[in-house]
Amino acid sequence: MDKQLNLPKAFADLGIETPILQALAVMGYETPSPIQEELIPPVLSGRDVLGQARTGTGKTAAFGIPVCQNIDPQGRLQAMILTPTRELAAQVLGQLRRICKFLSLHCVPVYGGTNMRGQIRELGRKPHIIVGTPGRVMDMMSRGALNFDELKFAVLDEVDRMLDIGFRDDIRKILGGIRNEHQTVFVSATLEGEVKRLAMRYMHEPVELNVSQDQLTVSEITQQYAVVEPQKKFRLLMHVLKQEEPKLAIIFTRTKHGAKKLAKQLHAAGFLAKEIHGDLVQQKREKVMERFRKHHIPILVATDLASRGIDVSGITHIVNYDMPDDAEVYVHRIGRTARMGATGMAISFVAPDQGEVLTKIEMLINEEIGRLDMDGFESATLTPQKRPDSESRPRSESPRRFGSDSKAAPAERAATPTQKSDGDRAPEKAAKARPLFVKLPPRHKR
Ligand code: AMP
Repeated sequence: MDKQLNLPKAFADLGIETPILQALAVMGYETPSPIQEELIPPVLSGRDVLGQARTGTGKTAAFGIPVCQNIDPQGRLQAMILTPTRELAAQVLGQLRRICKFLSLHCVPVYGGTNMRGQIRELGRKPHIIVGTPGRVMDMMSRGALNFDELKFAVLDEVDRMLDIGFRDDIRKILGGIRNEHQTVFVSATLEGEVKRLAMRYMHEPVELNVSQDQLTVSEITQQYAVVEPQKKFRLLMHVLKQEEPKLAIIFTRTKHGAKKLAKQLHAAGFLAKEIHGDLVQQKREKVMERFRKHHIPILVATDLASRGIDVSGITHIVNYDMPDDAEVYVHRIGRTARMGATGMAISFVAPDQGEVLTKIEMLINEEIGRLDMDGFESATLTPQKRPDSESRPRSESPRRFGSDSKAAPAERAATPTQKSDGDRAPEKAAKARPLFVKLPPRHKR
């Protein structure tokens, strides 16, 4: 054992053993994050767990540490971790490999876009842990390349996405294929209603954890929206990029075509921007991600393939060039910035008829998003929307719990919007506010 390594005592107190403590020391983890503190003990003790925590708060290690600790190196496949995208699977795999650096565990990927025969060969080498996406896992199951007889852990990352309509059937078949008695661990940043009920059906008396305290987004993200006609979005984006000079940004589009087109336009305008979406071959996707991770590309134009779980340090800006249809997707997108205590900015381009989309998001995050007005850029107004919660009823009557900043009546908040935003931010962030942001108009004029 390397005596130089200062083993993280706070993790030892949770019951983590030396080989993993050594790995955590190498990774620079000193203290567990709240979700790790809550989730590690019940998983170690054999319970099923449903864990909810904000994105970027250490969920991967929260399940990865106890799973790695409870795997028998002498045994065969004991843990399957499923994620909705290949990018997230690759990232989770990388982190698990770091966690079990000092254990003799073999972790392999099972996701599409990579050589099928090579993957079958890898699976033949008796991995202890697989990390994959549902499609390829199903494929491998049907080829008889996966044996769940010794499986102890089934983990679903981003469980709400995994159980929504697109993946639901696959997950049912995959989880239904496990005969061995096992633990089920589901984690997500967002989890509500029917999907949560469905998740519960796969679990046995689960420990339910929610460390997001009803606040889905962190206060370190400054959230703003701008109202803009679709045909003026690119001009607005130019304006924002010039004003903000983001060090590292993701610009989200709704479609692959949109991402391709926007990347081309940005390129033509002289920005170093690359696109990532499902039409790119896997090798290219990985290369782009790798370059972005290393900060070699400052702007990534992405579809929602990059909205969940992707952990790249130093992302300063998220731009929702196209608003997502789903409010939860918004939470995941902006969660790519301000990770593990850093700060960031999220700017959303809202079409004049998308007031309702914005309202849904504000309802979900329990926060009012400030309007970004642009000096030198002509802005549009939102067509009036029925705003049952924010317009006609004081916030205190709202069914959701609001942060302290939201206690002011809506009119007051609208009248002092910049104070609200600055007051929300850490002092150094407030000091950094740029002239790009000017006083908000009253809310009903959006
Ligand atoms: P995740 O939410 O799992 O994507 O993790 C977000 C980032 O936090 C990743 O870069 C992790 O490596 C890092 N991280 C997770 N847990 C800790 C910890 N206890 N101490 C320091 N960094 C951590």
